[in-house]
Amino acid sequence: MNVLTKKHLSTVIKKSGIGILILDESLKIILCNQWFLKHSHLLESNLQNNFITDVFPELSGTRTLKSIEQCLEFSQYSILTHTLNPFPFPLFENEQQMLKNERIYQYLHIIPISIDDEPNRFCMIQISDVSQQVTREKLLREQMIIAKERESEAKKASQAKTDFLASMSHEIRTPLNAILGMADTLHETELSKEQSEYLTILRNSGKALYNIINDILDLSRIESGKLEIENIEFFIHDLLKETISLFLIKAKSKGIQISYSISDDISKMVKGDSTRIQQILINLIGNAMKFTEKGSIFVNVLLSENKTNLVFKVVDSGIGIPSDKLESIFESFTQVDSSTTRKYGGTGLGLSITQKLIMMMNGKISVQSEVGKGSTFIFEIPYEGITEKGSPLHQDWLDLELPSPEQFPPCKILLAEDSEENVFIIKTFLRKYPIELEVAQNGIEALSKFQSTNFDLILMDMQMPEMDGMEATKQIRFIEQTKGTDHRNEIPIIAISANVQKEEIRKSFLVGITSYLAKPVRKIEILKLIYFYIAM
Ligand code: ADP
Repeated sequence: MNVLTKKHLSTVIKKSGIGILILDESLKIILCNQWFLKHSHLLESNLQNNFITDVFPELSGTRTLKSIEQCLEFSQYSILTHTLNPFPFPLFENEQQMLKNERIYQYLHIIPISIDDEPNRFCMIQISDVSQQVTREKLLREQMIIAKERESEAKKASQAKTDFLASMSHEIRTPLNAILGMADTLHETELSKEQSEYLTILRNSGKALYNIINDILDLSRIESGKLEIENIEFFIHDLLKETISLFLIKAKSKGIQISYSISDDISKMVKGDSTRIQQILINLIGNAMKFTEKGSIFVNVLLSENKTNLVFKVVDSGIGIPSDKLESIFESFTQVDSSTTRKYGGTGLGLSITQKLIMMMNGKISVQSEVGKGSTFIFEIPYEGITEKGSPLHQDWLDLELPSPEQFPPCKILLAEDSEENVFIIKTFLRKYPIELEVAQNGIEALSKFQSTNFDLILMDMQMPEMDGMEATKQIRFIEQTKGTDHRNEIPIIAISANVQKEEIRKSFLVGITSYLAKPVRKIEILKLIYFYIAM
C-alpha cells in the first residue's frame, strides 16, 4: 500500500478548497495555503513568519483573535459563524470586491494542534466561504418578510371586505326588511286578483334578494374564517320535517312529490350544527326543486357502513347535470350554462357555500347525475348520536300555537326602535292584538320610559343612535339589580337585529338579552315570541 509522504500532506493543505492558516504560539503565521493567498490578495512572503496582528491589524480586539488566543493557551476548539464573526479576515472574492471592501462571508474553525510528546502547540484556522449561503439566507428572510407583509395586507383586505359586506348587508337588509314586512301586511288585506299577482312577484323578488345578500355574507364570513360551526344537540326528525315543510307548497304547485326518510339506526337526537345542516339541505332541496319539472324529490338520511358518518342523500328526477360540469358546479358563481340564471335564477353561490360548510364540519359532498334523468347530491358529516335523554337547545316558542287576537293576553310593550318604517311595520303586525305599544326612539328614551312605566316586555333594536340596544339592556339589567329584582321577574328583552353574527348574538346575551330575533322580523315569529314570554 502506498503511503502519503510529508510532501503529499503539505500539498493536501496547500491545495485544499478551504482557507488554511497555521499559527505558532507567538501568533506568527507559519503556514498559509493557496486559497488564503488568492483571497487575501497577499504574497506568501507578506504572510509567512509575520505576526497575524501585524498582517491583519483589524483583528485586534475581535472575537476571532480571542478565540485564536484561547486555542493556543487552553487548546480550545471554536467555531465562528458569520454572525459570531462580524469582523472576518479581509478576504475578497476578486479585486473589484476588494475595492468595494465587500468581504467574503466566512465560517471559521479554530482548531488546536498539539501532539502529546511534542512541546510546541499550534493553531489551525480553517476558513470556509459561506457567502452564497448567507446571500440565500438573506434573500429568504427578505422574501419571508415580504410574504408576511403580503399576508397581513391580504388579511386586512379580507377583513375590510368582510366588514364592508357585513355593513352593506345590514344597510340593504334594513330597507328590505321594510319592503318584506309591508308586503306581508299588504298580503293580508283585500286585494284584487291582479294586485295579488303583482304582490306575489314583489314578495318573491324581495325574498330572493334577501337570500342573495345572505349568501354573499356567508361566503365572506367563511372565507375570512369568521364563521364558527356549533356542536349542539338537536332532533334530526324535527329538522327534516321542518326543512321539508318549507318546500311543500312549492312542490304542490309544481306537481312534484317530496318526501324524506330517516334510517331507524340513527338516534332521535344527534349532535351537530343544526342551523348549518338545515342551510345545506335548503340549498340542495332548493336546487332539486328548481331543476325538477316533474317526478319527485326524496331526502334520505342514513348511517355510513362503519356507522361513523351521517349520510344525507338528496335525490331528484330533474334535468340532470352533464358529466363534464359535475366538478365545476361547486365553484363560486358557476352554473351549468349561461342560460341558467335567466331560466332558473340563482347566483351560483349555493353549492360553493354548501361545500365549504360541509368541509368545515369535517365532511364531504359528492354528486351523481345523468342528463334528463336526475341528480343525487350526497353529503356525509361525522355522526354523534345522543342516547340519553337530554334537553336539546330547541326553540320551543316556534312550536307554539298562536291564539287568536281575542284570546291573546293583553299586555304593554316598549318598542325601542329608531327607524320609523320598522316601528310602522311592527305596529301593523301587532295591530289586531290587545297589545299596547309604546315607542322609544333611542336607548336613552327607552331607559327613561322603562323607569317611569311598567312594561311586560321590551322589543329592543340593537342599532340605535345616542345609546344602542346593547348599552340600554346593560343599564336596564343594572337598574333591576340595584332594585333587587328577582332573576325570574326580570323584564324579557327581545333583541331585534340585522347583525346575525354569532359574536354579536353572544355579546347581547352576555349583557342580559332574553331572546334574539333576526331582521327581517316575520309577523308570526314576533307574535309567537311575545306570546311565549307573556303567557308562559
Ligand atoms: P345556483 O343554484 O344559485 O345557480 P348553485 O351553486 O346552487 O347555484 O348551483 C350551481 C349550478 O349547478 C346550478 O346553476 C345548476 O346549473 C347546477 N345544479 C345544482 N343542483 C342541480 C340539480 N339538482 N339539478 C340540476 N342542476 C343542478
